[in-house]
Amino acid sequence: MSWLYPSVENRCCTSALGDANPPAAPLSRLEEASAGLAVVNLLGLDRDGLTRFFADLGEKPFRASQALKWIHQQGAVDFDDMSNLSKTLRRRLSECAEITGPKIVLTQRSVDGTHKWLLQLACGNRVETVFIPEEGRGTLCVSSQVGCALNCSFCSTARQGFNRNLSVAEIIGQLWMAKRALGEKTPITNVVLMGMGEPLLNFDNVVAAMKLMMDDFAYGLSKRRVTLSTAGMVPAIDRLARIADVSLAVSLHATDDAVRNELVPINRKYPIDELLQACKRYVADARRKVTFEYVMLDGINDSPAQAKALARLLSGVPSKVNLIPFNPFPGAPYRCSSTTAIDRFQEILQRAGLVATRRKTRGDDIDAACGQLVGRVQTRTRRPNTTDVHA
Ligand code: SAH
Repeated sequence: MSWLYPSVENRCCTSALGDANPPAAPLSRLEEASAGLAVVNLLGLDRDGLTRFFADLGEKPFRASQALKWIHQQGAVDFDDMSNLSKTLRRRLSECAEITGPKIVLTQRSVDGTHKWLLQLACGNRVETVFIPEEGRGTLCVSSQVGCALNCSFCSTARQGFNRNLSVAEIIGQLWMAKRALGEKTPITNVVLMGMGEPLLNFDNVVAAMKLMMDDFAYGLSKRRVTLSTAGMVPAIDRLARIADVSLAVSLHATDDAVRNELVPINRKYPIDELLQACKRYVADARRKVTFEYVMLDGINDSPAQAKALARLLSGVPSKVNLIPFNPFPGAPYRCSSTTAIDRFQEILQRAGLVATRRKTRGDDIDAACGQLVGRVQTRTRRPNTTDVHA
């Protein structure tokens, strides 16, 4: 993550520095803060970022661990509560830093216990975060972008177009917010980057946020419990393999390039064969499996022949398959496969020796199911025929 040069997309509102007149020499965030130009949101700094921030203040690296605990474990928003920091340091922090999470504008709870929060971000953008409680675990589904640029034809987020990447604070802020909202009795045991957006197109911010999810002084989740789902950005999968060892889920959805080109247009750039090679490389040294997501679309990708083709395709990849019943949305050009077709598809995969599970649709009464997250996008690339759920 760039420390000295905050990325443009993180400064969606015209920055205090003014994009038209960049300063002669770049300022560190602390220098910006000291000059009254910006206040650093500590929520968005991972351990490395906080260590550098405190070094700039002349403080020792252990301050980063202390701050992580206060911010992410204790939920402190006021520096005065940070009792193991000196009074002078607390005063300094209150001048140059803040801890600001996303603002909740709407909370909905499904009859099945699923929670959905609509969050207000800077610049009028909104994203959604979903919590899915299950026996013995609680999964938070986190968004990585405002809208999505990939235009998958079966996904309602795609209809919203793309606006911008979420900042680290906005990504980790979803977990920070949900932990506070749910309270200690409802722990978040897993995080999936399966909300709005393509996480690998917001690589640096997503990686920094995932580091915080796994940092023992922040949320302490094991790498098995943090899953990144991608539509198949091949070079970024390889890059991810080199620096983070989180669980990988891939939205496959088809067994041949002609169908996948229609469903997941990024397939034209990274076709199935290249994608599967990247998946093999990702798990090569790790003794783990890639989860392949497969949305069940009536008459499109759900035939017995396609099930057999999928089994053949995945025979050399350590994997499991998660069949997702299609969640409809207004104007969607598809129907969900029948229960019989899904049963048959799953059985063929299992008979071929694959682990094939079926995702239970959760929270559909509050539009919280896969592909139903829309938030509200102040879009630059809005697509026609859009239906805003939260107008
Ligand atoms: N961009 C990432 C993550 C976001 S979508 C990706 O493509 O993986 C999370 C999952 O929900 C993906 O597998 C996606 O294909 C699936 N999905 C999207 N729309 C859906 C819908 N209407 N019904 C069921 N699943 C859907």
